[in-house]
Amino acid sequence: MYQLPILNYGYADLEPFIDEATMKIHHTKHHQTYADKFNSALEAYPDLANKKAEELVADWSKLSNDIQTAVRNFGGGYVNHNFFFSILGPKKSEVGPDGSLMIAIERDFGSWEKFVEKFSASAIGLFGSGWCWLVADFAGQLKIVTTVNQDSPLSQNLIPLLTCDVWEHAYYLKYQNKRADYVSAFFSVINWEEVTRLYQTLILKT
Ligand code: MN
Repeated sequence: MYQLPILNYGYADLEPFIDEATMKIHHTKHHQTYADKFNSALEAYPDLANKKAEELVADWSKLSNDIQTAVRNFGGGYVNHNFFFSILGPKKSEVGPDGSLMIAIERDFGSWEKFVEKFSASAIGLFGSGWCWLVADFAGQLKIVTTVNQDSPLSQNLIPLLTCDVWEHAYYLKYQNKRADYVSAFFSVINWEEVTRLYQTLILKT
């Protein structure tokens, strides 16, 4: 059974950027529902149950036809939210990565400001529900990609480093239709230590 990871911060700790009510509903209702539906879809497939959720989502198109959609949507929703909540954290005085990740951002996007601008534009411009990601390919090159619904970059052989959930449930209570304000606020509650750790782990493997 896939469980929700415990968050290492409280629902109110991202205030005022992401409000407590949104965080609580997002985690205990939306994320939990993806986990429940993923578990229930896999009940009839005991041979899949010992795989990591990320592996199933990465290779959903190689599974038998009757389970593909459930793994893509519910497995994707479960895995994407696990990741999203893991890279959030209370606002720190210093906002942004340092060290090797900042150097890579400057190398691949031109500057920190250009990265923020491009990521924000991609998140704001994504039509409908989905996710905006900072990813690395297997050569360590950084890219910004978007995915629709609960699709994951893992299915495109890309390694997630950062993501912004732009489904309306992630921001509508506080920001209503103002997705741009939510995306701007999102940049204040990124756990850059964790994002940097993910990048450094990846670089050691390339
Ligand atoms: Mn969500």
